[in-house]
Amino acid sequence: SYIDMRGAVGLTHLFLRERVALGDRVVDATCGNGQDTLFLARLVGPLGMVWAFDVQEEALAKARTHLSEAGCLSRVKLLQAGHEQLAAHVEGPVQAVVFNLGYLPGSDKACITLPETTLAALKQSETVLFPGGIIVIAVYTGHPGGREEGAAVEQWVASLPYQSYSVWCSRQINRPSTVPYVIVVEKLVPGEQCGQP
Ligand code: SAM
Repeated sequence: SYIDMRGAVGLTHLFLRERVALGDRVVDATCGNGQDTLFLARLVGPLGMVWAFDVQEEALAKARTHLSEAGCLSRVKLLQAGHEQLAAHVEGPVQAVVFNLGYLPGSDKACITLPETTLAALKQSETVLFPGGIIVIAVYTGHPGGREEGAAVEQWVASLPYQSYSVWCSRQINRPSTVPYVIVVEKLVPGEQCGQP
């Protein structure tokens, strides 16, 4: 089936569907109501594992309900913890880590992801990532602080050596500059050559 690519979340799902397989271990660093968590849980199947972090109890409760109704709860570890504690909880290596930054629509708009903790989580994600694995980040700049967070994320990903990481930034250039955009970091498999046509 087609993935709806009208927004950043759809595009992140496209990358995840390409790279995550049955039995894989993955992380949702910003679980919220569990939209991405459920997508990941379906990709990894019953033998896979998803670690899902959020600081909001209410959001995690909603995610639990959605996952349970979909029959996927047993393959998900829902953690009420900041993603800056990722490495303490996740048994790596993992195939993918997902970040959906900003605030959760319909909940406390003051509860936003922040540059310092987001960067801490990104750095830890990189250490638990399998070669060939990806970090996908949906970046929101429309709320106060969002632009600064996006800049901090871009600065960090831009510093990753190209010999070891492939880093992409994808924007919808026919929409206002405030719409969310996607950053993808692929950890390259050592020794693998870039295929030339
Ligand atoms: N992917 C989610 C979904 O499908 O509903 C939406 C994520 S929402 C844009 C961002 C989430 O990040 C919010 O639910 C917020 O509570 C969470 N958050 C904020 N700071 C966090 C932190 N330090 N660690 C983990 N999650 C955090």
